[in-house]
Amino acid sequence: MNNEKRYTQVIEKLRAVGLRPTRQRIALAGLLFDGTDKHVCAEDLHRDVINADSPVSLATVYNTLHQFTDAGLLREIVISAGRSYFDTNVSDHHHFYFETDGGLEDINSDEVVVTQLPTPPKGQKISRVDVVVRVSED
Ligand SMILES: [Zn+2]
Repeated sequence: MNNEKRYTQVIEKLRAVGLRPTRQRIALAGLLFDGTDKHVCAEDLHRDVINADSPVSLATVYNTLHQFTDAGLLREIVISAGRSYFDTNVSDHHHFYFETDGGLEDINSDEVVVTQLPTPPKGQKISRVDVVVRVSED
């Protein structure tokens, strides 16, 4: 896809969810939504956007990732405190987490069957069940 068409698509994608297409949002969305599903962490995306000659601070990368998540463009996968991935595939699915190298791989939603869930705390409802299967080399 040519750059101009992609640029237009990115702007439309942002507008469709009510986000103003600022320079930083366009730069980050252009890297994230390039047509292939990916799991990114803020640090890697920050490095990529700097390499793409778009100076955006790490704090802005974090804020933008959370804005995109709130708008439904991304799903956040929390691995542990301070370690999150952002998934461009927002459909229902689960993940393998490779403890050795910290990578993530998709698991189809129909490969995991949850047979019992606890009653949610009073006043709460279950909005989604994310399964992270942690694997390490044996
Ligand atoms: Zn995924």
